[in-house]
Amino acid sequence: MTAAPINFDNSYARLPEGFFTKVKPAKASAPEVLALNESLAAELGIDAKWLKSKAGIDMLSGNALPDGAASIASAYAGHQFGNFVPQLGDGRALLIGEVIDTHGKRRDIQLKGSGITPFSRGGDGKAAIGPVLREYIVSEAMHALGIPTTRALAALVTGDDVIREDVLPGAILTRVASSHIRVGTFQFFYARSDTASLKALADHVIDRHYPDARDHENPYFSLLQNAVEKQANLIANWLMVGFIHGVMNTDNMSIAGETIDYGPCAFMDHFDPKTVYSAIDQGGRYAYGNQPSIGQWNLSALAQAMLPILDENEEQAIEYAKKALDVYPQAFEASYEKLIRSKLGLLKPDEGDIALWQDLTKHLAGNEVDFTQFFRALSKASSQPSMKDMAFHDLFGGPSMFDMWMVAYRSRLQLEDRSDEERQEAMLAVNPAYIPRNHLVNEALEEAQKGNMAFANKLMDVLSSPYEERAGFERYLLPPKPEEAITNTFC
Ligand code: AMP
Ligand code: MG
Ligand code: MG
Repeated sequence: MTAAPINFDNSYARLPEGFFTKVKPAKASAPEVLALNESLAAELGIDAKWLKSKAGIDMLSGNALPDGAASIASAYAGHQFGNFVPQLGDGRALLIGEVIDTHGKRRDIQLKGSGITPFSRGGDGKAAIGPVLREYIVSEAMHALGIPTTRALAALVTGDDVIREDVLPGAILTRVASSHIRVGTFQFFYARSDTASLKALADHVIDRHYPDARDHENPYFSLLQNAVEKQANLIANWLMVGFIHGVMNTDNMSIAGETIDYGPCAFMDHFDPKTVYSAIDQGGRYAYGNQPSIGQWNLSALAQAMLPILDENEEQAIEYAKKALDVYPQAFEASYEKLIRSKLGLLKPDEGDIALWQDLTKHLAGNEVDFTQFFRALSKASSQPSMKDMAFHDLFGGPSMFDMWMVAYRSRLQLEDRSDEERQEAMLAVNPAYIPRNHLVNEALEEAQKGNMAFANKLMDVLSSPYEERAGFERYLLPPKPEEAITNTFC
C-alpha cells in the first residue's frame, strides 16, 4: 500500500525556472476526509480506496507526497478589481502533479490550503472549511450542469485551526483542472518583458489545450482566438444558470476556458442583472450582468500580454490582437443565442427570438421572479393556455403584463414542428430544477463547520442530477424565504 498507484507526468514542472517555485506542503496534524469524489477518481484512473488509505490521506493532506509528485507553487500576476498586481502566484496552493485521465486528457492535481509559499504575501497559506466546501459543492454542481469547470476530488479537514474573523477548522481542497494556467500567467511574463518565457508558456498552452493552433500560420494568434472563444462560451453558459463568479480578476480566469477559483461566488435567485453577492465587490464590477463585458476586458489584458509574441512588428501584433478580440462579441452572441433558444424550447431560429428573450427578462426583473423556477415552469407549460398557467401567476404574484408575453411566446411556438411532449422533454433537460442556491450552500457550510456533513451530503446528492426532480427534495427547488436569504458571500 505504500507505492502510489498514480502515474504523474509533470509537464509544468519541466518548464524553465521562473515559472514556479518548489515548495513543500505544510503538515496537517489530524487530517480527516470530509468529501471524496469517487466518480472523478475513477475518471482519473486513481483508486478511490487508495485515496482513503493512510497513504492516500497523506497525499490529500500534503503530509507525505507519493513518488513522482511535484509540489510546486506557480507564479502569476493579475488585475485585481482593475488594478494590476505584477506578482500574485499560488499563495495557498500547490500543484502536486499531472495525470493522464482515462480519456487520455492531462489533468492537474492541486492542493488548495496547503500552507505558505513564496507567493503568500503575508497570508497564512491556509483555507477554512467553509470556502473549501463551497468550492467543492459549487464546482461539482457546475460540472453536473454541463458547464466547463475545475473539479473537486476531495475535501479534508486538517485538524488545525485557521484564524479569520473567527477561529475556524482548517481544510484542504484537492482540485483537478485541465490546467491552472491563467490570463495572469501571461501577464506575469509580459510585466517582466520576458519574451522567451512568454513563448515557452504559449507553446505549452498550445500543446496542452489548443493543439490545432500549430497548423495556423500564426499559432499564437490562433491560441489567443481560441482562448477568446472558449471564454465567451463559458460566460454565456454562466448567464444561463444565473451564476455569478464574484471575483473575475485576470488571475482567476483560466486560459483553457474552465470556471476557476470559486470564491464568493453564488447563483442568483430572482432575476436581476445587478445582482452581486461578494462582500468585497462594493462597486458591482463583477455583477451578474457585467460578466460578459468583464470577460472581454480580461481578454484584452491577455491580448496585451501576448503582443510581444503575436508578431515581431508591433503594429502587426496590435492588428492580430484586435482581430482576435473582435471574435469575442460574435462568439458570445452565438453561444448566448443558441443557449437562450434551447432554454425557451425553440429549435428553428427566428429573427424575433432575441427580442422575445429581452422582453421576458424585463418581466422577470420587474417582478423579481425566480430565474430557475421560471424556466422550470415554462418547460412544463403547454402550447395552449391551461390550468398549468397558474404556476406563472404564483411566480409573478398574480396576473400581470407577463401574461401578454405568454401569448407572444405561444404564437412563436406555432413556428415549431415539435410536439408539446418533445419540447417539454428537451426544455426540462436544459433548465435545471436544482442549482446551488446560496442559502442552501450557506446552511451546508454552517452545519459542516459544526462537524455535521449530513446536509452538505444531501445537497451534493441532489445537485449531482440537477435536471431530475426528486420526491423529498421540494425545499431545494425554492428560493429562500425572506428570513433565509444570504445576500453576502465571503472568501
Ligand atoms: P483569489 O482572488 O482568492 O483567487 O486570490 C488572490 C491571491 O491571493 C492569490 O495569489 C492567492 O494565492 C492569494 N491568497 C488568497 N488567500 C490566501 C491565503 N490565505 N494565504 C496566502 N495567499 C492567499
Ligand atoms: Mg485566485
Ligand atoms: Mg479564491
